[in-house]
Amino acid sequence: MPPALAAVVSTAERIAKPREELQFAGVTDERTQCERCGRIELKRTVVLRRVIDGEPSGFVYFGVDCAAEALGRTRKGVLEEAMRAELERRIAVRRAEFEAHPAIVAVRREDARLEGLGRAPSKRHREWALEARARAMTDLGITDPKEKR
Ligand SMILES: [Zn+2]
Repeated sequence: MPPALAAVVSTAERIAKPREELQFAGVTDERTQCERCGRIELKRTVVLRRVIDGEPSGFVYFGVDCAAEALGRTRKGVLEEAMRAELERRIAVRRAEFEAHPAIVAVRREDARLEGLGRAPSKRHREWALEARARAMTDLGITDPKEKR
């Protein structure tokens, strides 16, 4: 093949090849095998989103070392991001529990009703809402950082 043609072919192949990218999506302890190297009994795996030609295309589960390599990052960087993701996940779970608490549901409903009527919440309503909030936090074992000494 003449060199000029070979160059055209190689460029065409490069363009035609789907561009696959992996993005950090989180961590899980539900999968304990690395899908890249096959290592088993891992404490956790890193969840990576596959993106092919800009389109999300499912997830793969890699051990921390393989994930770091695939992402072109350090093991420490991946672990730090994993810890941040885990913390955010836990906060989201706690927030959802709080919002689902009957006392908070009642407050939200009453807030919406007052807003619908175009009425400002009364002092009594605000006190009731504060009590409800405190009750929900006590029930869920959440401590208010503002109250910590
Ligand atoms: Zn691996």
